[in-house]
Amino acid sequence: MHLVFVGAHPDDETYASGTIAKYVANGHKATIVHATRGGKGHWDVPTQELEEIRTKEMQEAAFVLGADVRFLGYEDASVPDGDELRETLVDVYRELKPDIVLTFHPLVWRDDHRRVGQAASDASLKASLPLHETDLPAHRPEPEIFFFGAPMTKQEPDVYIDVSDYMEQKLESFKKHQSQWQDWGKPKEEQGDYLERVVEWYTHRFREYGRQCGVLYAEAFISKSGHRFAHELLPVRR
Ligand SMILES: [Zn+2]
Repeated sequence: MHLVFVGAHPDDETYASGTIAKYVANGHKATIVHATRGGKGHWDVPTQELEEIRTKEMQEAAFVLGADVRFLGYEDASVPDGDELRETLVDVYRELKPDIVLTFHPLVWRDDHRRVGQAASDASLKASLPLHETDLPAHRPEPEIFFFGAPMTKQEPDVYIDVSDYMEQKLESFKKHQSQWQDWGKPKEEQGDYLERVVEWYTHRFREYGRQCGVLYAEAFISKSGHRFAHELLPVRR
C-alpha cells in the first residue's frame, strides 16, 4: 500500500504526520508531495535561501517519519488554480500509484492550501481514466481521499487515527521545521519559550482529537467518499 500526502508547503504534513509514521511503521510506503518549497514563509530570510533551508528541514522531517519527499516546483503563495496543478497531480498519481491520498479540504481559507486540496481531490478521477492520455498509463482504482484540517472547515471529522504510540516521532518531525517555529522579526535572544508554546499548542490539538474518539492522541480526517472507516484506512496492528 502507498500513502501519498499532498500539501502546499514544507510543514503542511505536520497535520497528518502521526498517521504517516504509523503507516510506515506497519510496513507500507509513504510519500510527501509539496507544491512549493515555502520560499515566502519568513520575514527576514530571502526566498532562495529560505527554499534551501526549508528543503533541508523537510527532508529531515520526512526522514524521522520514514517517508519520501518530492516538490512540484511551484512558487510559494502563487500555487496555480485549476487545470495546471490538477494535470501535474494526474501524472504524480499515475507514477506513484497511491492507494490513499491525504490532503487539504477544498474549503480551507488559505489559497495555496485550498487550491492544492481541490486539485488533489479532482485529479484522482482524471488519473484513473484511460482515455485521458498523458505519458503515463491510467492509475486504477482511484485512491481513497481523506481531508485533514477539519478545524478550519467547521466540518465534523468522520475518521480518527489513534497516533498515541507515534507522538514522539510526530513531535520530533514537527520540530525539524525550525524556520517556521520562530517569532519572526525578533532576534534569537528574545525568542524566549516561543517554541515550547508552539509545541504545546500543537500537542493540545491532537490530545483534543484523542478525547473525541477515546484515545490519548489522534489525528482526524474527513473522508471524501464518506463510506470508509478508520480500520479500513489503516488495517494494521498498533
Ligand atoms: Zn501551508
